[in-house]
Amino acid sequence: MFQDEKLICEDCGAEFTFTVGEQEFYAEKGLVNKPKRCSECRKLRRQKVRRKMFDATCALCGAQTKVPFKPIQGRAVLCRECFMKNTNIEEGKQEQTEE
Ligand SMILES: [Zn+2]
Ligand SMILES: [Zn+2]
Repeated sequence: MFQDEKLICEDCGAEFTFTVGEQEFYAEKGLVNKPKRCSECRKLRRQKVRRKMFDATCALCGAQTKVPFKPIQGRAVLCRECFMKNTNIEEGKQEQTEE
């Protein structure tokens, strides 16, 4: 017989219920491990995994890079390194023009 079980979420530390229905589902699937995360964190994780990365070429150094959005034609894509450099330059400019 299954019984509702209280578990602690590994990610957010919240207590959540491993319900009878879920336990039956797990048993059906042959899963022996109990869920480590609450449904909210599981949902978040799934969303993260689903986020696709797109191949792009850096407009400054020509390096192959991956971006979390679909590169748009005509719009410059920068690799991480160039992006960091660029933001530093921008910040520097702002400081100089501030009077
Ligand atoms: Zn959680
Ligand atoms: Zn670059």
